This record gives sequence, structure tokens and C-alpha cells, in this order.
Amino acid sequence: MKKVIGLTGGIACGKTTVSNILRKLGAVIIDADKLSREVVSKGSPTLNEIVFEFGASFLLENGELNRKKLAQLVFSNSEALKKLNQIIHPIIGQKIKNEIKWNKENTNYHVIIVDAALLIESNLIKLVDELWVVTASEAIQIKRLNERDGLSESEARLRISNQMTLEKKKKFANKIIDNSASLERLSEIVESLWKEYK
Ligand code: ATP
Repeated sequence: MKKVIGLTGGIACGKTTVSNILRKLGAVIIDADKLSREVVSKGSPTLNEIVFEFGASFLLENGELNRKKLAQLVFSNSEALKKLNQIIHPIIGQKIKNEIKWNKENTNYHVIIVDAALLIESNLIKLVDELWVVTASEAIQIKRLNERDGLSESEARLRISNQMTLEKKKKFANKIIDNSASLERLSEIVESLWKEYK
């Protein structure tokens, strides 16, 4: 029986890091962030819709989406975030559904991971058999956002406060992966969860 596990959590808590560990252990990963970049590729219908909604100033000179500018807008404006999500979530949901189906029918992977920051918010829980939520303390989220993306403390706090709280996400979780400690500790936690599925 193939199992579909949703992997979600707060910003910069470590979803990608957990996915990478699971990939090495033998899972296949469906990466919602990668899909979200693909659906807004140059000339795509979804990018056209975004331009229609937000304006051509969100395009780079080469016709690609100015992701940085759009991120700046939506992370500080919840109305704009809602509009963007209404455009891209349905198509990403459909793509994830297709990839799950394809992997079930065409590959030998027993564990299919759906790595999606907004899995709960975009109503995709129904696509997975269970949900793992990656957490870290807010201080650690801020530190990692600063080190990885160069965000100031106030920018990081704004992004965190624009998301569903971790406390709320944890209520949906079948497993909680606390990634507040070292990478070594994280590997141990993920490996022991993986063993439960072997
Ligand atoms: P996002 O929400 O932006 O998609 P994410 O949840 O996928 O982020 P990662 O990119 O995996 O988070 O991790 C955030 C940053 O923190 C990365 O730079 C990563 O290398 C680092 N990191 C993750 N886990 C640890 C850890 N246990 N110790 C130190 N650094 C870590």
C-alpha cells in the first residue's frame, strides 16, 4: 500500500531540509514550491492572469515574473496574498493530484511526500493520507530567515505573522517534527519516523 504524506510547517522551519533527508531515505518528493514556479513560467496562462490582476509592473524585462516584487507585495498585504492564492492554488492543487496519481501508477515508491508550505491553507489535506508538520521556535525561524534570505527581524516577523500560526497547523498534524535543534538531531528524528514506515 503506497502512502502519501503531506509535509508542511512554518516558514523556514525546515520542510525542504526534511524533504531532502526523506529523498535520501527513498521517498519521492512532490515539491509544491517547484510546481508554483513552473505554473507561472513566461507566457503561461497563470502568469497572464497575475499580470491582469496586479499589472505589468510585476514582469521583468525578459517577460518572466518578478517574483521578488510580488513576494514583497503579498507578504505585507493579505488582500493581495488572497488574490494571488485564488489564482495559483487551484492549478497547483491539480498538478499535485496528477503527480500523486502518476507516482502511484508508474513508480515503485512506497512513500510519496507532498512538500507544501500551504498544504492546510489551500485545502490540500484531502489529497494526503497523513500530515507531518515541521516546527521551530519563532526565534529560530527569524534567525534562519535572516541567514538564508537576509531578512531583518521585522521583515521576518511580518512574514511569520502573515501565515497560519504553528499552533494551529499542529492541530492538523499526525506527526510533529521539532526542528529547533541541530541538523544531526533532525536526521535522527526523520530516520526514526521513516523506520515506522518500513
Ligand atoms: P520555506 O518556508 O521558506 O520554504 P523551509 O521550511 O523549506 O523554508 P528550509 O529551507 O529547509 O525551510 O530551512 C530554512 C533554513 O534553515 C535553510 O537555510 C536551512 O539550511 C536551515 N536549517 C534547516 N534546519 C536546520 C537546523 N536544524 N539547523 C541549522 N540550520 C537549519
